[in-house]
Amino acid sequence: MNTDSRLRLSPSSVNDYNNCPQLYKYRSIDKLPQPPSLDAERGTLVHTVLHDLFEKLPQDRTPANAIDLLPQSWKLQVEAKPELSYLVTNEKEWLDRAAALLTTYFTLENPGSFEATHREMHLESDFEENVYLHGYVDRLDVAPTGEVRIIDYKTGKSPRYGWEEKALFQLRVYALLYWKNNGVLPRLLQLIYLGDGKLVKSNPKMSDLESAEDFLHQTARDIFISIDKDYWPPKPSKLCDWCYFKTICPAHNN
Ligand code: SF4
Repeated sequence: MNTDSRLRLSPSSVNDYNNCPQLYKYRSIDKLPQPPSLDAERGTLVHTVLHDLFEKLPQDRTPANAIDLLPQSWKLQVEAKPELSYLVTNEKEWLDRAAALLTTYFTLENPGSFEATHREMHLESDFEENVYLHGYVDRLDVAPTGEVRIIDYKTGKSPRYGWEEKALFQLRVYALLYWKNNGVLPRLLQLIYLGDGKLVKSNPKMSDLESAEDFLHQTARDIFISIDKDYWPPKPSKLCDWCYFKTICPAHNN
């Protein structure tokens, strides 16, 4: 079987399927287009600036220099996706909001105190004969001691109490991929929530990675059954209010 005919899994597609198989079908099987969302575009802008910030010398990785990168990064983002100029009607307010998120970032980390070893790192694995697993890591730092930490920036707010484990699934998949490719168990997984200035951290154990791996195998099995039976039950939840496909979803149109 060639690469293109394999089932492609990523943390987000696995979450889609487990949150709502119908949503997974719209996105990953039918590949229906979705218009840009303000939240996602704001995330892209802030991620781009945090990526580019590490191109600077450590002493130049300051809040002012990060905020200075915003207008040019936004210009390039709009050039690549011209419809954004219609979506964002007040550019000053938009850039001010992004600047506030960057200011919060500096209350959580000092980017001048370390080197980011990898940014936007693509991790992949031939997970099963018919399953390709991959993901993009915002940042992966390797300390001089060889210890590895995996970082993901979120422009939203941290999860409510009790939901941290679900939020960490994405980073456990990255840790699993890194371990499979490099034989090193990352020491720290860290989610940085710029929306409310909080961190969610975990020191992963092998058993955490094995649990994530079991969950991925189970999800792959479930998706193959759905494909075989063409069975994609909608699973209504609070997510429906943010779902672009609500107007065509059978759960809301009977
Ligand atoms: S509207 Fe709700 S039930 Fe329908 S596809 Fe979206 S998330 Fe699933």
